[in-house]
Amino acid sequence: MVAESYIAQFEAMSDSYLKERASDIRDVAQRLLYHITQQVEENHSLPEKLILVASEVTLSMMASIPTDKLQGIISIYGGGSSHVAILARALGIPAVMGLSLSLSEIHKKNVIMDGYAGSVILFPEKPLLQHYQLLLAEDNDLKKLVDSGDAKEAVTADGYRVSILLNTGLNENQHARVAGHFDGVGLYRSELPFMLTDSFPTEQEQTDAYQRLLNEYAQFPVTMRTLDVGGDKQLSYFPIIEENPFLGWRGIRLTLDHPEIFLVQIRAMLMANLQHQNLRIMLPMISAIEEVIEAKKLINQAWQEVKTELNLTSEAFPLPEIGVMLEVPSSIFIIPRLAQEVDFVSIGSNDLTQYLLAVDRNNSRVAGLFDSYHPAVLQALKMIVDNCRRYDLEVGVCGELAGDPIGALILVGMGYNKLSMNANNMAKVKYLINATSHAELKTCIDLALQANAGADTRSIYRDYLDSKNLGGFVRAGK
Ligand code: PEP
Ligand code: MG
Repeated sequence: MVAESYIAQFEAMSDSYLKERASDIRDVAQRLLYHITQQVEENHSLPEKLILVASEVTLSMMASIPTDKLQGIISIYGGGSSHVAILARALGIPAVMGLSLSLSEIHKKNVIMDGYAGSVILFPEKPLLQHYQLLLAEDNDLKKLVDSGDAKEAVTADGYRVSILLNTGLNENQHARVAGHFDGVGLYRSELPFMLTDSFPTEQEQTDAYQRLLNEYAQFPVTMRTLDVGGDKQLSYFPIIEENPFLGWRGIRLTLDHPEIFLVQIRAMLMANLQHQNLRIMLPMISAIEEVIEAKKLINQAWQEVKTELNLTSEAFPLPEIGVMLEVPSSIFIIPRLAQEVDFVSIGSNDLTQYLLAVDRNNSRVAGLFDSYHPAVLQALKMIVDNCRRYDLEVGVCGELAGDPIGALILVGMGYNKLSMNANNMAKVKYLINATSHAELKTCIDLALQANAGADTRSIYRDYLDSKNLGGFVRAGK
């Protein structure tokens, strides 16, 4: 109440600078409320191997458990496209999200987790255990098979080449396992350095983190996305409490309201880029062209500052390429304007699905409605690739669809040739692309674009994969 009365006083001021200070009071008040309502954390000692079960598993919970101990994740609340699920997939840890069981029913019980079907079986009888052990062995065989072709590029039998790029950033260990061929980093989620600290990381801390990544992939282009907090990615020291967080203060909206955060991050990225010059900058949650123009102004400002401070010329220190995420539906209708402003776009299919279908990607109640094979999503994806080609704008996909076996085949059939995914899915997707032909994938997508529902599309690709003896790649429920 005290904060609200101060906020009202600031908001009533006519000076625009002072008026904006209302948001500072709001931030401080929200942080105070957050700390007051935090419960004292219990100190558990962890067993050697465990399945993490919680009413809502969060990214910070996952970060607090060593990855080698974590055998599975069960979250009562959440959906398959939440960032926890994305991270679990990237780490190769089975996860079941949105389970209607109470915590006490499951605590310390023997369970089978079926991450493909999204189910948990309590007290499994022996025959069922044996059945699942067989499935596990089949899964391991399939993994061995795809890993054997991991060094190959992704080229269809009729010569259509697809760049395979890496998604990284949600966790420090996430990219530790890139073994085979890939073509660069298509998405670095830069939230990590912000989530590992108790306050905003300094410019130097950020520079060090970005430099590690740019050095590690020095021979490749590395696309770093600017800070995308909000929604289900919260910073403990900057909590955002909103009724509709996914429709709220998220991504570029927040950083344009706090240019000081944005400028420090861009300066750090540019400093880190000095040595290898392999950085590309990508803006999240773009919904209007003004946001791109404003963000570009700030990027330019940071670039001029760094150039002057280090006494460099534009030739020695060129401005990196700038791109935007296509994930808010409005952005896909401004592709002609975007083509004039940016060097590339990348589709965030997780958010694009969420916003096109009006289905919260985190809400277990509507998880069944979240479907990236929905006919409307497919039409949007087709429209994007056609429009980008028409306006000569580089386009790729970095949402989970790109690393999903059927999703990758859908996208390749439509004409996409840049797919960015977690390291864990790369070998599988490359294997499938190498085992199929572009002509056949075009036939499949022509059929899928006529489908009435996502389930029909799934059947089209299942039948196709079965006909090529590749049915094992798409298990029931997947
Ligand atoms: C997406 O929305 O598809 C995406 C890649 O970004 P994030 O999952 O981090 O929102
Ligand atoms: Mg997104």
